[in-house]
Amino acid sequence: MTAAPEAVRLDGKVVSAAAVADLQAAVAGLAYRPQLVFVRVGEDPASAYYVRSKEKLAARVGVRSRTVVLPEGTGAEVLLALVAELNADDDVDGILVQLPVPGVDPAHVLAAIDPAKDVDGLNPVNVGRLWSGGDALVPATPLGVVALLDHYAVPLAGRRAVVVGRSNLVGKPLAALLLQRDATVTIAHSRTRDLGALTREADVLVAAVGRPRLITPEMVKRGSAVLDVGLTREDGAIVGDVDPGVAGVAGYLTPMPGGTGLMTVVMVIANTLTAARRRRGA
Ligand code: NAP
Repeated sequence: MTAAPEAVRLDGKVVSAAAVADLQAAVAGLAYRPQLVFVRVGEDPASAYYVRSKEKLAARVGVRSRTVVLPEGTGAEVLLALVAELNADDDVDGILVQLPVPGVDPAHVLAAIDPAKDVDGLNPVNVGRLWSGGDALVPATPLGVVALLDHYAVPLAGRRAVVVGRSNLVGKPLAALLLQRDATVTIAHSRTRDLGALTREADVLVAAVGRPRLITPEMVKRGSAVLDVGLTREDGAIVGDVDPGVAGVAGYLTPMPGGTGLMTVVMVIANTLTAARRRRGA
């Protein structure tokens, strides 16, 4: 008996490099340099790391960026005043506040960011536009998932897509994007019964949960596309939601690491360019 062929890698390294090159060319063709402003509160190392990686990529692409670090314990009033200042600054194209901030309701912060500068795509106006087919800024991780599928020409129209996870950051906006692309979409979550029966019907399966190896080979339809968004730190290593054994069943699979995570950072910068073009009309 011959072994089943391994799934095609939906390679975040390859696709993000191509996307970076496209962004560099697009920014080089502009008469201005877009500007992205990060806001952090306190010195959380993980948060500082994420901001640094986005700043580095912004610099490579030609997008200006700066980070405002507010002291630990900063409350809603000061944070919202800063957001209002950045909203009013015509030279700022994108605002990204690292959330959560202890003691501050994230919904208040997200609602305060000018929707035109909301490069995280989490302001309610952008959420509404995404679902109603308007010109939304869309969260970066779902954009990255769809970019991976597009790069490898994985068909979506008329296909069954199952998104496991229903967060505002990943699951829900991804479901909206897949629906826009004419997939028949189901969203699963922690209360879903018989998850395996659902996922086995999926031509495109995306796991955005944060539970190591939740998706086992038995839960996957042969030849389908499986994308792993989940990231859990386990014994010092990063582990995804998808069991590596799925590579023997799926037709396409994201590596972990080296898949969806690499795309997310690039899509934040892509959103800054989108915001700048819409605001500046070029
Ligand atoms: P989240 O807000 O915690 O949402 C997790 C979702 O998974 C929830 O909807 C939850 O259901 C569902 N869930 C939990 N246990 C489940 C189970 N046993 N079966 C089915 N669904 C289950 O997390 P998130 O922000 O969406 O992030 C999800 C994962 O992606 C995390 O590991 C995060 O670190 C990672 N992430 C990766 C990237 C990237 O760039 N690759 C970006 C963002 C996030 P309920 O709603 O019912 O609780």
